[in-house]
Amino acid sequence: MLAKDCEVPHISTGEILRSAVAAGSELGQKADQYMSDGELVPDDLILGLIQERLGQDDTQNGWLLDGFPRNVPQAEFLQQLLEQIDQPVDFVVNLDVEDDVIVARLLQRGREDDEESVILNRLEVYRQQTEPLIDFYRSRQQLVSIEGSQTMEAVYSDLKRLVME
Ligand code: AMP
Repeated sequence: MLAKDCEVPHISTGEILRSAVAAGSELGQKADQYMSDGELVPDDLILGLIQERLGQDDTQNGWLLDGFPRNVPQAEFLQQLLEQIDQPVDFVVNLDVEDDVIVARLLQRGREDDEESVILNRLEVYRQQTEPLIDFYRSRQQLVSIEGSQTMEAVYSDLKRLVME
């Protein structure tokens, strides 16, 4: 909804990977098991994918990255890439939600990798690899936290207020 309002592409690495798995491409075949286990797909598969995607024509006026970066090396790569293509980051949004709310929501969503044991592993991987990005972006004064346990409408309205400011 936000990407549509801002007229920028919504770039979800998870969605790109799920399409690759569905298409049975080489990327999909390599990524499949990591995704089923709730592990991060290795950076050497993700970084080229992001570089290629941000090089496409529809990104000239901006983009909304969803699910990327997921660890510090990815964030460092992104920073370098954005310098190269001369595109700044306006905000890095942390949608802050307690674990029990996340588990309940994902069990309702019922994606293929939303089995409880896999969700719990994703949370563990998040703590170890993704949560350090909060300090990474806070120290660069780019971090905005939004209370993600609110209703979808309230989260959307907070996000809109942020980008329209
Ligand atoms: P998501 O749709 O963002 O929940 O991602 C689904 C799955 O795709 C994750 O559990 C990872 O296995 C993989 N994935 C998505 N984005 C990334 C990323 N930036 N780095 C590594 N793996 C990713």
